[in-house]
Amino acid sequence: MTQLALFGKPVKSKLLMQVSRWNSKMGTVPSFSLPVLKTCPGKTEFCSRLCYGLNGRFAQQKMREIFQNNLEASKQIDFVERITREILKTGTKVFRLHVVGDFYSVEYVEKWIEIADRLPDVKFFGSTRSWRVPGLRDAVTRFRDLPNVYLRASIDPTHFDKPTSSWGVWSIEGVGDPCPHDYGLGEHCLTCKKCWQTKDSDIRLRLKWGNLTNLQPAMI
Ligand code: SF4
Repeated sequence: MTQLALFGKPVKSKLLMQVSRWNSKMGTVPSFSLPVLKTCPGKTEFCSRLCYGLNGRFAQQKMREIFQNNLEASKQIDFVERITREILKTGTKVFRLHVVGDFYSVEYVEKWIEIADRLPDVKFFGSTRSWRVPGLRDAVTRFRDLPNVYLRASIDPTHFDKPTSSWGVWSIEGVGDPCPHDYGLGEHCLTCKKCWQTKDSDIRLRLKWGNLTNLQPAMI
């Protein structure tokens, strides 16, 4: 329960939050997601229009509510405690950040630094576009550099800024080896494991994204 000060008196509140335990690409690898685009300060118009988070089951009202609840929970002072407990409950050795959403503030990244520190036996993997945001770059780099974190820079061909050579990348249908799942080579994350086997900065993976979406202002 979260202790909140209201008119000087502590009150209790419990914000819903959900760790996903299954995904058609990742199998039973658990993950944590946030609202699409709104939590992606490093997005481009290109990646926004191709984002799978706008379509399919991610676009269902129930999923949107889960992601919004996750965002609100992530801002609370007990987030580190709660998510650490949730990850431990899954018994996982690998955890994905974020299937949808991204690192939206320094404070939020620092919470994940603390979570990864507390769970040295869990490998955290994923990609981020927050490397493009000057105010977030140092924080996501510190997170990336933890021994159990496998974070890549997400890129696409439409922006001129490039991540430094210290970053491995996930590209959207651009450079790199094809992700075996996305290119129909019969694997999913738990059989492939490429994303969390090495921290090498020369790793480059090419992913397929969603269908082109006609972006409405309310989506952004
Ligand atoms: S490269 Fe392998 S581990 Fe990485 S996202 Fe694709 S299937 Fe999953």
